[in-house]
Amino acid sequence: MQFLSPFQKSYAAPALMVLALFVLCPSPGLAAPPENYSKAVEEPADTNNEAGLKYTKTSLFKQEFAKAVREARDFCKKYKRENPDAKNLAIVSDIDETLLDNRGLFNHVEKFTWPEFIKWIEKAEAPNLKETASFLKWARKNGFSIFLVTGRPEKLRPYTIMNLVKNDIAYDGLYMRPDSDRKSSAIKLKTKVRKDIEDMGFKIVVNIGDQVSDLVGGYALDCEKLPNKMYFVK
Ligand SMILES: [Mg+2]
Repeated sequence: MQFLSPFQKSYAAPALMVLALFVLCPSPGLAAPPENYSKAVEEPADTNNEAGLKYTKTSLFKQEFAKAVREARDFCKKYKRENPDAKNLAIVSDIDETLLDNRGLFNHVEKFTWPEFIKWIEKAEAPNLKETASFLKWARKNGFSIFLVTGRPEKLRPYTIMNLVKNDIAYDGLYMRPDSDRKSSAIKLKTKVRKDIEDMGFKIVVNIGDQVSDLVGGYALDCEKLPNKMYFVK
């Protein structure tokens, strides 16, 4: 999924290099991001819709997905064990290909386009990705607040909520891309949201997403990268 406008493209490379230097240096007191995503700010060469879809059917994909979610849950348990009195703990989760499964669209298009994606979102019929959905349900029962942070634009909020409700996904906050901002990178927008959440007094214990841009930028103790070779979001 590419969100870059022509304006952005001309400035994207140098800006990303500067940004990478900044985001890859975690703030004091925060755990360093795991190796597997901290280095991968560039689009992997093997990202494409058709091959990516095929990959989702492999056992490797399923193992990779399950491992990330298992590690997220284990990290939460460990954090609670080591910090029994901690309050206002939170999980941040991305939505697309993290919590909702859009293969119902990608099975029928050659590649990502915004008009097709918007039509699909308006149907609000994406199924959930069971492991992540059950992790979030478990986390909420265990006292973690759930904040969903998505690059979907605000105008799609009603359909997004409808789709989450259909899947019985409970959450405490839903942050979306402002309709007035088509240009900012996902890294910039999502990092700011996580900072805002921590400024409200929450400690983000786990941040989980299928894109590197969901995860870099700090403001989370642990980050978990889910596999996605269908598309890439900067
Ligand atoms: Mg996603």
